[in-house]
Amino acid sequence: MIRFRPHHFLCALGFQGKGYSDRFTANMAEIVDRLRAPGGGDLVLHVTHQADAICAPCPHKRGAGCAKDAKITALDRRHARALGLADGDCLTWDDAQERIRAHVAPGQLQTLCAGCAWLELGLCESALAHLHRLSA
Ligand code: SF4
Repeated sequence: MIRFRPHHFLCALGFQGKGYSDRFTANMAEIVDRLRAPGGGDLVLHVTHQADAICAPCPHKRGAGCAKDAKITALDRRHARALGLADGDCLTWDDAQERIRAHVAPGQLQTLCAGCAWLELGLCESALAHLHRLSA
């Protein structure tokens, strides 16, 4: 079981090797590689509203919180509402991708992810569009 805060479901979908530090990026790459490996869709993700598996080596992490708490909490709230995620929920990565497909339309990250430093790169929107194309 891997602990994920709500906005990290879409971050994991769009991850292309960018991060806040070398340690952060290496850790996130290891987690995302597990999700994308054969059988990774069956991995169970445990929803938390605190620092999670991806946050663990982040230079902005402060205990179970974040130095950028206001921005991160707002991101989590918007993503949790969009995906129907509550603190303590458990779901597989396949289920999470199905929720993303069902509830997050291409173009919606402009509002869902407002304030994120990676948004303007377009990598997450590309991954979201690709997920929708796979199910078309
Ligand atoms: S734009 Fe930012 S918050 Fe949104 S999915 Fe990408 S990395 Fe995550």
